Amino acid sequence: MDTEKIWNNILENIKINVSPAIFSTWFTQTHLVSVNKDGDKHVIQIGCFSSYAKSTIEGRYFGMIKELLEKELGTKCDITFIVKEGAPKKKTNDEPSPLFESSVNKEQELKDALIKSGVRPLYTFDNFAVSSSNQMAWAAADAVSKNLGTAYNPLFIWGGVGVGKTHLMNATGYEALKEDGSIKAFFCTGEQFTNDIVEGIRNKSTQRFRNKYRKLDILMIDDIQFIAGKDAVQEEFFHTFNALVSAGSQIVMTSDRPPSEISKLEERLRSRFEAGLIVDVGQPDFELRCAIIQIKSKVRGMSIPMDLVQLIAGNIDSPRKIEGFLVKLSSEAKLKNLPISADMIQSILGKGIGGNGNQVKASPNDVISAICKYYTVKKGDLLGKSRAQVVALPRQILMYFLRTELNLPLQEVGNIIGRDHTTVMHAVDKVSLLASSDVNIRQDILGIKNKL
Ligand code: ADP
Ligand code: MG
Repeated sequence: MDTEKIWNNILENIKINVSPAIFSTWFTQTHLVSVNKDGDKHVIQIGCFSSYAKSTIEGRYFGMIKELLEKELGTKCDITFIVKEGAPKKKTNDEPSPLFESSVNKEQELKDALIKSGVRPLYTFDNFAVSSSNQMAWAAADAVSKNLGTAYNPLFIWGGVGVGKTHLMNATGYEALKEDGSIKAFFCTGEQFTNDIVEGIRNKSTQRFRNKYRKLDILMIDDIQFIAGKDAVQEEFFHTFNALVSAGSQIVMTSDRPPSEISKLEERLRSRFEAGLIVDVGQPDFELRCAIIQIKSKVRGMSIPMDLVQLIAGNIDSPRKIEGFLVKLSSEAKLKNLPISADMIQSILGKGIGGNGNQVKASPNDVISAICKYYTVKKGDLLGKSRAQVVALPRQILMYFLRTELNLPLQEVGNIIGRDHTTVMHAVDKVSLLASSDVNIRQDILGIKNKL
């Protein structure tokens, strides 16, 4: 019996019965674990990706699923839900399944394409939870990823800090590349784009710039508001924009505000932006925050019981802070070698790290001096350009502290250490990963903390 096919049919039916938001959040990561004939009925196990998903699906959609399965199989069904991850998803369309070798090639092609395009494999639609605050933006991004240049062009996504704009735009690029790894995609920040243009002008190599940007199938620019007020950059972007759109290529942008409120944005750009689709992403509600915590903790290999997920969601409003909080929680649990508990969560919340409580008392300068003292490096070297290992690691630890302990935005950390925010992001990821596997790093972190 082809359980995958059966479940795909059921999913198609569920899709018709529930909103896209519900479907994407709860059903995309379910699968049939087993189907066994027992007399005149079937005994069926359905796997859900987390206990939260299991209890939600069980509680709200049991009847619908049972009915659909009974119709599909033509017998009575006994269903149980269990927590179990599915096999990696295969494509669901009817093309013959690729030979082993060609699917490996495809995987490699996607990997190469991601590296070349600057699209991150971590921020995908699969791990993006949807609710009323982001449903419009999600639906638009999803449509764009499947119909480059024809669904909505440009797609302009705006909203407050940390609500998921970058994630969503990245997912758009990821999905498009997954569909076809041979397309030319490029993801950059408004800041990188600006630097590229400025460099082109300085080195009289604007032709190279044009060759790079005007031949794309999809251009994604994060935080486009950055180009406002920069005349030469806006001029060049205007021509890039026109060249791309008239060639049928897709443009996606994010911004912290709608085009009408970006001051010093050239009028002709504003009207181009407004000619496409403008969608906003709002602050997530409680349920969405719970879903995000589930997704993020799963990625980190943490298992947090539902009541604790709710405790965190009740105390932290911003998805970005959730991420910082989980980093903190995971290292706390590992440092102390204790299971995650309400007390541990309360104590981190109480310290105000990532929570809504009081901020840590230390200032960025305090952290800088503590790190200089701990590693005996000079402040000038720590904040300087050298890539030598003796300062590179302390510098990464500094970024980690500023981000997770002081809870500063990526951009601000970037300003302090004179690097761009993607560098900060990588550093924070790297240190949190190291902290979970390397006892020396854990000791360093504790040691520095004691100096604060
Ligand atoms: P923005 O660009 O709007 O400032 P990001 O896209 O950087 O925000 O999101 C901040 C963090 O929150 C990221 O780790 C992102 O993965 C996470 N996040 C935000 N919204 C969601 C969501 N709906 N589902 C899963 N993760 C989310
Ligand atoms: Mg962003």
